[in-house]
Amino acid sequence: MTNRDLHGNGGGRFAAVFFDLDGTLVSERSGVREARTAVGERLIALGLYSKPATAFADTIEMVIGGIMEDNDWQWPLWLHAEEWMKRSLAVEQITVSEDEFAELGRVYRDERSDRAEAIQGWREALAAARRHGPIGLITNFNDGPMQRQKIRGAGLEGQFDGVYISGEVGVWKPEPGIFEHAARDLGVDPGQCVHIGNNIQSDVEGALSAGMSAVLVEEDDRPRPAGLNGNVVWCEDLLGVAEWLEG
Ligand SMILES: [Mg+2]
Repeated sequence: MTNRDLHGNGGGRFAAVFFDLDGTLVSERSGVREARTAVGERLIALGLYSKPATAFADTIEMVIGGIMEDNDWQWPLWLHAEEWMKRSLAVEQITVSEDEFAELGRVYRDERSDRAEAIQGWREALAAARRHGPIGLITNFNDGPMQRQKIRGAGLEGQFDGVYISGEVGVWKPEPGIFEHAARDLGVDPGQCVHIGNNIQSDVEGALSAGMSAVLVEEDDRPRPAGLNGNVVWCEDLLGVAEWLEG
């Protein structure tokens, strides 16, 4: 295990431990495209669409691309599945009932959450975190219902004392506000907390800007990035995180 704690404190005592979700605790390889295609398949099954299911996935992607372009390539906080679904149906000139619309949303979220898998080492990392105190989840995602369902799909429901989703809190990482909100909600001082995530900017820089300690955990066995701030702890996987938290 290659862990580097350049603080030299070997883990210490934290008032609370925060985790990022996507790419840190949960992986959903290819799940997004497949979930969009599943919406097309359901439309075909309902007799409402005569093109291939993947064509509807393409339309969804075009619609989302347009929304992203209009928002300087930042995910708008209001962009839930219902919003791009409504616009994609309009592009394809498909009219659905309220029940059918709700069903399409369910198909999308079910397909996507069914493919969400907890990343190896999650049990050990959360067990080690639990010895410090409460565990919070801080995740950048616009669609709160989708993210909550993904947590259930990956088998992580009930693991957290607080779940903070940017689309619900109203602020994205790396803004310190979301970290401060999470710490306040758990009744802890951000300076006594650590945040663990896989993104240098949103997770590491964000946590540091809120006064938390930061751990960068790698996906896909990438090496430690060059130029990483010397105060940042780097772990190659969640078992490394567990070991560091226990140290
Ligand atoms: Mg992530």
